[in-house]
Amino acid sequence: MFLILLGPPGSGKGTQAKTLSTRLKLVHLSTGDLLRAALKENRPLGIEAKAYMDKGELVPDELILGLIGEKMLDSSSSGYLLDGFPRTVIQAESLDAMLDRNQRKVDLAIKLNLLEETLIKRLSGRVYCPKCNANFNVFFDPPKGAGKCDNCQGTLERRPDDQENVVRNRIKVYRNQTEPVEDYYGKQGLLHEVNADQPPDKVTEAIVRVLISSGKK
Ligand code: AMP
Repeated sequence: MFLILLGPPGSGKGTQAKTLSTRLKLVHLSTGDLLRAALKENRPLGIEAKAYMDKGELVPDELILGLIGEKMLDSSSSGYLLDGFPRTVIQAESLDAMLDRNQRKVDLAIKLNLLEETLIKRLSGRVYCPKCNANFNVFFDPPKGAGKCDNCQGTLERRPDDQENVVRNRIKVYRNQTEPVEDYYGKQGLLHEVNADQPPDKVTEAIVRVLISSGKK
């Protein structure tokens, strides 16, 4: 199965992708995580991507498509959960062409819906653990010990692109460049919207209900 999670920054794609990929036994591919890992390892891709990420702009399609192609060839898994990809219509068309060559296709695209002011509040409270990648929110889901990861005691950090001015730009970029991707899947009858303004486990259940009603689970 090829499942795509769409939604503006802060809508909870990463959290849902982690839970759902385990539950549905799908490989979780997050282009944002892959770029941050490349940067941490000082690889040229990460260094090139950083300039765009710091401003909240999209990394050029060619770089992202190279990264995704490599990762999808890498794994023998029968299913993927794509988080943060595709973000442009060119990426969506290239993904279709890539899948078509392997007689596969996108099964569903789930859009997580949330009001803009809620997105900004969520992102301004977001912290993550660079060691184990766990996410917390100082307002909505605070870690038990201040500044420390509940799972591995790593020191929690804020993403540089979660500053308010960058967040506002990321939301604008989503509206301009990624909303057309929603239309792309909508026209094919593959898009389903889920209310993301509820606790994470309720959002997961809403997504699972969509999968069941579409005959995908
Ligand atoms: P994310 O972790 O998904 O919020 O992504 C963080 C940043 O990485 C984005 O603001 C972009 O700069 C970049 N990025 C991630 N995925 C993509 C993509 N599919 N296309 C272009 N840029 C991306």
